[in-house]
Amino acid sequence: MDVVMEYLDTYVFDGVYNKAAGLTSTEPLPRNSILRQSISLFVFIYTYIILFYFGTAGLSYRYVYDKKQEQHPKYLKGQRFLEMACASRALPQITVLTIPWILGELHGHSMVYKEWDKYGYPYLAISAIMFILFTDFCIYWVHRLEHHPKVYAQCHKLHHKWIVCTPFASHAFHPIDGYLQSLPYHLAVYVFPMQEYVYLALFAFVNVWSVMIHDGEYVSNNPVVNGAAHHTVHHLYFNYNYGQFTTLFDRLFGSYRKPTAEIYDRSKRNSKSVQSKQANEIDDKIPTLEAKKSQ
Ligand SMILES: [Zn+2]
Ligand SMILES: [Zn+2]
Repeated sequence: MDVVMEYLDTYVFDGVYNKAAGLTSTEPLPRNSILRQSISLFVFIYTYIILFYFGTAGLSYRYVYDKKQEQHPKYLKGQRFLEMACASRALPQITVLTIPWILGELHGHSMVYKEWDKYGYPYLAISAIMFILFTDFCIYWVHRLEHHPKVYAQCHKLHHKWIVCTPFASHAFHPIDGYLQSLPYHLAVYVFPMQEYVYLALFAFVNVWSVMIHDGEYVSNNPVVNGAAHHTVHHLYFNYNYGQFTTLFDRLFGSYRKPTAEIYDRSKRNSKSVQSKQANEIDDKIPTLEAKKSQ
């Protein structure tokens, strides 16, 4: 992140802080001030995530998402806008909670490194694979624990309001839920080294992926990839397919559920009989989930 901050300080923030200092007749905050870095990071991360969220989910909604899904009996009235409002409320709070991790990075406490060949070129690919597997494993357990009846209602239930998702559901969480599920991405660079550009690229990728698994259109029915079909099963039937990128940990820990053939097939997926069968199964399931909360 220091490479991004370097550019932003030079081209944006130096001027802003100098102007603020002039207006208040004080010394400008130095670049390495924690207060200045926290403010700058909030402005940058919040702007980035809002643009990225509305940009990526908007493009996906326009060009990829099958809008016939909005006729599903479990699609809520005005749901797309409810999802956007939910994400817009959560993202500032998630941004604030994320700042300490990035400050740690800026002050050299993480294992992010600059030189491409510091650990050899093959390590760049190895570290990317490690990032996917490490974060997939952690998110699997965070997500699975969030489905525990003792905490489900307080933290994760909001994201399951969207039974038939649009791409805008991708970041529509309770802020604590969104933060907990993003923690592994920050933790990774405190556990193993990553080259800064590889890390930034993967960070962008995970945000796109999050949109992709909520748009309902699978790009692959590879048995190892946890795609939109698998996450559709998660939103329809709750206690299956907790993974983010792969089906490995669901298979390993007994929560894998194979998507049915009609989830992969647009014409079958949009048929009234398939949709009302899904709606009935959900109606049977929800009272069980709700009852478990009081246990
Ligand atoms: Zn989801
Ligand atoms: Zn869930």
